[in-house]
Amino acid sequence: MNMPFHVIIVGASLAGCHLAKCLAQQGYLVALVERRADPDAYKVMCSHLLHPNVVHTLQDYHLYDSLVEQGGQATYLDIQVRGRHLFYPFNRQARMANIERRLLDPAVRHKAIEQPGVSFFPGAKVQELVYDAHQRVTGVEIQTQNAQTLTLHAPLTVGADGKGSAVAALAHLKMRTLENGRAAYFAYYEASQTATASQIWVIDKGRSYVGVFPNGPKVLVSCYLPKAHPAAAKGADIERHFDQMMATTLREQALGPRIGNVIAARQTSSQYRPKHRPGLTLVGDAYLSADPLTGVGCSWALRSAELLATSLGNINPGTQPSHLSTQQIDCALQQYRSRHAMHLWAPAYALAFVSTHGRLLTHPLLVKPASWLASKVAHRPLAAWVPAYLPHDT
Ligand SMILES: Cc1cc2nc3c(=O)[nH]c(=O)nc-3n(C[C@H](O)[C@H](O)[C@H](O)COP(=O)(O)OP(=O)(O)OC[C@H]3O[C@@H](n4cnc5c(N)ncnc54)[C@H](O)[C@@H]3O)c2cc1C
Repeated sequence: MNMPFHVIIVGASLAGCHLAKCLAQQGYLVALVERRADPDAYKVMCSHLLHPNVVHTLQDYHLYDSLVEQGGQATYLDIQVRGRHLFYPFNRQARMANIERRLLDPAVRHKAIEQPGVSFFPGAKVQELVYDAHQRVTGVEIQTQNAQTLTLHAPLTVGADGKGSAVAALAHLKMRTLENGRAAYFAYYEASQTATASQIWVIDKGRSYVGVFPNGPKVLVSCYLPKAHPAAAKGADIERHFDQMMATTLREQALGPRIGNVIAARQTSSQYRPKHRPGLTLVGDAYLSADPLTGVGCSWALRSAELLATSLGNINPGTQPSHLSTQQIDCALQQYRSRHAMHLWAPAYALAFVSTHGRLLTHPLLVKPASWLASKVAHRPLAAWVPAYLPHDT
């Protein structure tokens, strides 16, 4: 079946939906393919600390206030190392947010699928990529909700299908991993007091981390442990270990009872796929995913979508997708990858270093000046050095 699309996006989570909306606003006809059938589906494996640029995007979408009303909350980060505090953002203003993905994902997805120019294919799984005679990707074969096979054609296909990207696997794109040897666990507790600061304790000489993220009436508690830790061993009773660890580590937090199960993620290393194919590119976690400890995943998912939309913004897509010049697309994809590198590689390497060298970074010689800097230095000049995390208006 031939369909008139300029772009096929596989994966309707944050990166895919933001990209679909941005491109449709620029006149592109977009097919948005999502394997989950329910438009209100959400990513469970996420501790949903959102950096200021995500807050800014949600404000642009006119979603932020209603998400906060439904239980999200503004926050800032207080990272505690050896009894010293490092704050982010530097001025300690609550410009980040804790918003559960069960609220965030459906809200962003509905904005995308209601955008004229976006055709949504829920419950559709990508099975194959379609190539032309020159090995250029020209579309995807999907299996629909009612087990039909459909072939969608477009001059550009984008994999926005997360860290385990099926699109990247089908295209044989290699993934590089910077192994950090840690697993992540998190669970919700009832909040027994209101708090603004999200707190992270760097413990065990930088090998383990415990975080507490206030979320309206709930508190999300996360814990990052070396895989060699008894609690992280395969078959360990993680529920019991988690409750015990929280009772000793967070004695002063006065948490209420735990709500629901402990959720575990065994792979938390930074990963990226450096090479793409003609007619195919990646956004979000499919391209580059950071250690979740750093809480930048949602921020980078949106940022990569914006960078790709900006790079494609110089092309007038016209009404006939078949008339879209592949040369122009190749040129835009080249620009996208350069922009992606410019904006995200430096923070990606810095955070991968943090992820793998926690022990070195907790050395008092580094912690003392860093905490002094965090308390003294005005945030505005620093904003220029960390563009990936800060809102566009700083
Ligand atoms: C334990 C943990 C904690 C985290 N905590 C934070 C945090 O506090 N803050 C933060 O910013 N980030 C955090 N992250 C990272 C964040 O969750 C991701 O970076 C973000 O969700 C990436 O968005 P994405 O749109 O690229 O991919 P995803 O959100 O992974 O979405 C991929 C989409 O593609 C769909 N899909 C997959 N395969 C197919 C297919 N074959 N066909 C069609 N559709 C498909 C999926 O159903 C899904 O909708 C955390 C991650 C983990 C694991």
